[in-house]
Amino acid sequence: MTGPSLAETLFAPSADPAWRLTEEGYDPLRESSRETRFAISNGFLGVRGERAFTRGRRWTTPARTYVAGLFDRTGEAGGVPVLLPAADWLEVQLQTAGVRFVDEPADVPSHRMDLDMRRGLVVSDCLHGAGPVRLRVRTLRLVSLAERALGLQLIRLDLLAGEATVTLEVSLKGVDQGLEPQSASPDLVSWRTRRSGIALAMAAAAELRIDGQALAPVRTAPLGDAWRWATRPGQVVTFERLVGIVRADDGAVAAATARAALKRGRARGAKGLVADHEAVWSGRWVRSDVEVDGDAAAQRALRFAVYHLNSAANPDDDQVSIGARALTGSDYGGHVFWDTDIYLLPFYCHTWPKAARALLMYRFHGLDAARAKARSLGWTGALYAWEAAGDGEEATPPCTVAPDRQVLGIFTGLREHHVSADVAYGVWRYWTATGDEEFLREAGAEILFETARFWASRAVPEPDGRRHIRGVIGPDEYHETVDDNAFTNVMARWNLERALEIAGLMRERWPQSWRALSGKLGLDDPELDQWREAADGLATGYDPKTGLYEQFSGFFGLEPVDLSAYAGRSVPMDVVLGRERTQRSQVIKQADVVALLALLPDVFPGDAGKRNFLYYEPRCGHGSSLSPPLHALVAARLGETDKALDYFRRTAAIDLSDTTAAVGGGVHIGALGGLWMATVFGFAGVAFGDEVISLSPRLPTGWTRLAFPFEWRGRRMRCEILQTQRRLQVWLEEGQAVTVRINAVRHLLEPGRPIDAAY
Ligand code: BGC
Repeated sequence: MTGPSLAETLFAPSADPAWRLTEEGYDPLRESSRETRFAISNGFLGVRGERAFTRGRRWTTPARTYVAGLFDRTGEAGGVPVLLPAADWLEVQLQTAGVRFVDEPADVPSHRMDLDMRRGLVVSDCLHGAGPVRLRVRTLRLVSLAERALGLQLIRLDLLAGEATVTLEVSLKGVDQGLEPQSASPDLVSWRTRRSGIALAMAAAAELRIDGQALAPVRTAPLGDAWRWATRPGQVVTFERLVGIVRADDGAVAAATARAALKRGRARGAKGLVADHEAVWSGRWVRSDVEVDGDAAAQRALRFAVYHLNSAANPDDDQVSIGARALTGSDYGGHVFWDTDIYLLPFYCHTWPKAARALLMYRFHGLDAARAKARSLGWTGALYAWEAAGDGEEATPPCTVAPDRQVLGIFTGLREHHVSADVAYGVWRYWTATGDEEFLREAGAEILFETARFWASRAVPEPDGRRHIRGVIGPDEYHETVDDNAFTNVMARWNLERALEIAGLMRERWPQSWRALSGKLGLDDPELDQWREAADGLATGYDPKTGLYEQFSGFFGLEPVDLSAYAGRSVPMDVVLGRERTQRSQVIKQADVVALLALLPDVFPGDAGKRNFLYYEPRCGHGSSLSPPLHALVAARLGETDKALDYFRRTAAIDLSDTTAAVGGGVHIGALGGLWMATVFGFAGVAFGDEVISLSPRLPTGWTRLAFPFEWRGRRMRCEILQTQRRLQVWLEEGQAVTVRINAVRHLLEPGRPIDAAY
């Protein structure tokens, strides 16, 4: 790294407040939520938004850096694999005249930290007045979106007053958290996970300049350096640290790749790296930014959501997926749930298809584990893990400690089977959104067939002439062993039907691929007939007289509880009522029939959608962050815009306020994906049919304008809704003409000829 002292502009956050989260002052009690919100990530590396200089380890959370896919069993969490924290490469200690920097909040008369979402990085700016000197300290950190192995840390010290001897010391911290050291040389340290045997290498280089002149460090440890110098007012000191981090199966490969990445990064230099990173981010924003006029809070919430969604994915690594807290915290051990297939894939399918494909290929690689799970429980086909870690094996912990310190069994890993249909739904969404035939032939079809096969074995014919799926947990996890959960059964039926449809399509269009795949899976006509029969015979709990789906068999007979009597509670309903009473009641943890309505609106004939929403909404306790966004989406589609906005705000508050959920363990990435769905599919009313895109906007009062880009079958489009004028514009920026239906009117959208229509 070369060049004069780092320009001040590098450290300046974006001026427009809609593009940043800013925190001023220093509140030790809120550190952990801030660390989550201010996390940066590139889908491979995740770094929590800790302060640049801390008050020592005892004040900080144990982990700062996460590496996608670095799973191992640690003996905790019931012995299941969890995402291990990697060593902290950002540790800095600063001493002026022997006084440690930031020992006391009082030493920091002003402290400001900005998550600059536009640039995809975190900067901080503080005044420090401990000991005899006064300094202005500015920092910048990023994990590069241009080269995912690279992390960069910049610090600039402006000496305002006083003279003293200063020491700046850097080292790797937290190297002993479940990783076994393999080798350590001055510029590289490597580890291996104990049981899963994954190699991790970190190569780093650091440099300190005083008024542009490099100062030689004293090496204190591998990747550890110390600099010591005498200050004088007016002095400008810059520090740059670049790290290359690589995960691989083989230790030598990890080390060589980390060194090579570091070398490329050093050749590019800090300013070049920042510029490359910002350029890629700006490309992501062009593809995905959602703009709202008239509601600054909504704009900020959507920026925050889209920022974290863009941060979470890595289109270049299909061996990993996105955990329920992405790479921003340790909750749920980095495990992958249906959140990814149902709540995240829509965003990626319509703004970043390559990232969506990688997430689905992760599911494809997990097919063997899913087959093994189905087999071990006595069924055929593929039953996906409720919680998946590295290789797709079931990673749900067997038990947990409840708030009252009781050890409770967790049954989701055994009984929450709808995940198999959710994975199939994700495959279908990607296929219909992109028309990626190669994916369908090589991977997607196999997932659809194996999950369909599972449902055909799982839905057992009974003397009443119907097939039933007994003993499951639906999305509403408060009811732990139920029969015929409507969500599960209808999704299963849908899964069987889509598998049949794709079998037909393959036969017709790609007979060779069909022969190869059906041969490999041993699929024959009698089995396909059985799928048809299973789909047609499945009990769904739908009553045409009332238009209601019964959430599961017997639900209507459970104790009704008036949830409005508990408004303002700060704990979930199962804690208020206790586990047993909750199970005997109609209190629902999260959208269940409402989730079905969000995903498959067509299975609700006539006004059944509205009826089901009116029935189930008051019974829902929203004990999961996934619940409010789907309620927002459904309410918006039903034209209940005020209610939808209320749910939108509740969703936004989950990560942005400290009132509704535990944020310290990481962002609720599924809810953030749901916020995008509620906006694009709900408020803008975007839906995709056979060769037609429909738009039926219902913007909340106050939203004067909503604009966003989206992709569909090789086309890039942009939509802008102007509520004040009741006009809607759509541009085709790339790809072939397509029919767009605005409310009921059809238009042909052609290149260079945007649609401008009243709505
Ligand atoms: C929800 C699940 C969700 C999981 C991870 C649970 O509380 O009930 O639906 O998949 O959290 O977000």
